[in-house]
Amino acid sequence: MLNASYEPLKVVNWKKAFVLWFQGKVEVLEHHDQIVRSFAESFQVPSVIRLKTYVRLGIYPKIRFCRENIYRRDGHTCQYCTKRFSARELTMDHVTPASRGGSKSWLNIVTACKKCNQKKGNKTPEEARMPLLNRPREPKWQISQQLDIEIHFARAPDKWKSYLFFSAPGKTVI
Ligand SMILES: [Zn+2]
Repeated sequence: MLNASYEPLKVVNWKKAFVLWFQGKVEVLEHHDQIVRSFAESFQVPSVIRLKTYVRLGIYPKIRFCRENIYRRDGHTCQYCTKRFSARELTMDHVTPASRGGSKSWLNIVTACKKCNQKKGNKTPEEARMPLLNRPREPKWQISQQLDIEIHFARAPDKWKSYLFFSAPGKTVI
């Protein structure tokens, strides 16, 4: 389902899509090949629908602080050597070491490969002469990035793909 602005909002099942369409709340932009029959009529199943009224999305849910989301924020990229790794090869690094009062928070934890984490050891980036790629921040994901949780681009129906164009740094699926 797209907003009136064509921004992807969320995935709804086909029954919900029909209900919204019958209620006149959406227009159907794409159809699946499947057909659903009622007593008198048959309908092609909607694939992409667009709300007729723009929904304002001022408030994004807070993003949970956890390993997986830190890697996502940093695009699975070591913040020291700037290379991309799989989650298995990554670690969470305290920018200011924990032993020196560094907190376990969005602002002090970055993605680091095992090698860089070990190399940096108990030092700050300045002391280790390992500048950070990005200053750590609390992520404010756009709705399209949240959508990424629901949609694996490669597995999305082809008809969706031209609507999933909103860029998102750190996206692992496009
Ligand atoms: Zn590294």
